[in-house]
Formats: sequence, C-alpha cells, structure tokens
Amino acid sequence: MEELQTILRQPTRVRHELKRRSLSVVSVQALTPHMIRVVVGGEDLAGFRSLSHDDHVKVFFPDPVTGVINTPEFSGNGAPVFPAGKTVIARDYTPRAFDAARNELTLDFAVHEAGPATAWTQSVTVGDPLMIGGPKGSTVVPLAFDGYVLIGDDTALPAIARRLEELPAGVKALVIAEVEDETAQLTFTTEADIDLHWVHRTTGEKIESALETAALPDGDIYVWAACEGSAARRLRPHLIARGVNPKWLKVSAYWQRGTADTHSTIED
Ligand SMILES: Cc1cc2nc3c(=O)[nH]c(=O)nc-3n(C[C@H](O)[C@H](O)[C@H](O)COP(=O)(O)OP(=O)(O)OC[C@H]3O[C@@H](n4cnc5c(N)ncnc54)[C@H](O)[C@@H]3O)c2cc1C
Repeated sequence: MEELQTILRQPTRVRHELKRRSLSVVSVQALTPHMIRVVVGGEDLAGFRSLSHDDHVKVFFPDPVTGVINTPEFSGNGAPVFPAGKTVIARDYTPRAFDAARNELTLDFAVHEAGPATAWTQSVTVGDPLMIGGPKGSTVVPLAFDGYVLIGDDTALPAIARRLEELPAGVKALVIAEVEDETAQLTFTTEADIDLHWVHRTTGEKIESALETAALPDGDIYVWAACEGSAARRLRPHLIARGVNPKWLKVSAYWQRGTADTHSTIED
C-alpha cells in the first residue's frame, strides 16, 4: 500500500516543443502597488502548453537602446546560440494563466528597485511587442497528497496563486507568502482549506520565522517553495528537519540578491 502511494505521488516530467513566440501586449493592470499584470496575445500562442504551476517562460525584452528584441537561435540539440554583437535580455516568468480560445497569456511581474524586466513594466503599453520562449517542460505534481505547503515571496505569488486554483476542494494547504506590506497582498481563489500566513518585510518578519511557528498539514504532504536564494537555502534543511520527505520537497531560488537573472533549484 505504501509503495502504491509512493507511485501515485511521483511527479511526472513532460517535455514541450521549444518554440519562440512573437506576441504583443493586450492589457496592463496594476494588481497591487507591487505587482503588474501584463496579458500578451497573438497567433504565435497557438499550441502553447503549460501543465504545471511552476513552469516558466523565458521572456525576451527589447534592448532599451535599439528597441529591438534579440533572441537566441536554437541548435539541433536545443542549445541556445546567441547572436554575435547583440544583447539578449531575458528573464524567467511564470505562466500565470493561459486562455487558449483567445490565445492570451497572463504574466504577473513583481516590481522591485531595478532591472530590465522591472523597467519594462514601468513603461509598457498596449500593443508593445514581447517575445517568449518555452516552457521547455513541466513537472506535474499529482493532486493525490494529503496536504500541500506553498511558500514564497512576491516572485512566487503567480505560481502559488495558480496552484491554489488547481488544488482539490477541502485539501489542507499551508501558505506562507512574504511581501512588502499589507498593500502587496493578493486575494487567492481556491477550494482548498488554506491556512494563509502573510509575512510583511516592513515588520522585519522572515519566511523562516513564520514557518517555524506554523503547523504543517497532517499526512503525506508536498512542499513547494521559491524565493530569494539565501532564504531558499535556509528553508530546505529546516523543512527536512521538520520531517518533510525530501522526495516531496522542491525549493527554488527565483532570484539572488545582488545578481541579475538567476535561477537554481536547492538540492542537498
Ligand atoms: C522559474 C522562475 C519563475 C519566475 N516567475 C516570476 C514571476 O512570475 N513573477 C515575477 O515577478 N518574478 C518571477 N521570477 C523572478 C524573476 O525572474 C527575477 O526576479 C528577475 O531577476 C527579475 O528581473 P529584473 O530584470 O527585474 O531584475 P534583474 O536584472 O534580474 O536584477 C537586478 C537586481 O535586482 C535584484 N532583484 C531581482 N529580482 C528581485 C526581486 N523580486 N526583488 C528584489 N530585488 C530583485 C537582483 O538581485 C539584482 O540585484 C521567476 C524566476 C524563476 C527562476
């Protein structure tokens, strides 16, 4: 029986055709003073697939000097070949929602101090061009767990919001979300039974301290966390010490303080 449960709870990796898509901005909306929602659309989104809440697309931004969006070419083995003498500006973003009937993709951008993605969101208007690549693949975590834990900062909110929409009715979910202050909080739509903890940076509280005092759901749980790198590195040993099965734990660094354009999964 235990072996069967393990099999039923095994995450599955699904690969997708790697494609660059040339799109344009359909709408821009400030969800909070700290989060801008940009919906992009176009025929190139035909066949777009994103099966997991923690998928990401590479978003290619215009060169601020030339206004041109440069992208790599992909060689036969899928390795990117960068155009000589041209700047490729790309960052990772979560497909927050995809409307296949309208060919529209929703991306939510956390606004911070500096960086090309943040700068782009400050001046973007309807009709502006944008290119995306991917997702390359999706890691699908079954909905067969007794409970779920979702932890993250602003950059993880799109993935957390999307996962909460997918979770089955009544399943226990602990959510710890770190944002600047109350004005950055989002309203989640979910049928899960959630225990939601907002952590406000302005009070000096940290994700780890909120996690220490929060009760994990009973039974077999899947824990997903994504946030700044050094916080992410502290979370993994803490969660394992709390009894979380490392096979059912994924911790990612979605950004690294002081370094542009980073992404890593925290392993032992
Ligand atoms: C798989 C994946 C999915 C992601 N999904 C999303 C998403 O849906 N929405 C989203 O907003 N972000 C998401 N991110 C994070 C986003 O890619 C990074 O925050 C990215 O670095 C932002 O690019 P930038 O051009 O604004 O800043 P960069 O040029 O990359 O960085 C400039 C400076 O800003 C700092 N910095 C970067 N991000 C932040 C931040 N959030 N807060 C404070 N300082 C920061 C860097 O340390 C650096 O010093 C995701 C990352 C990954 C790996």
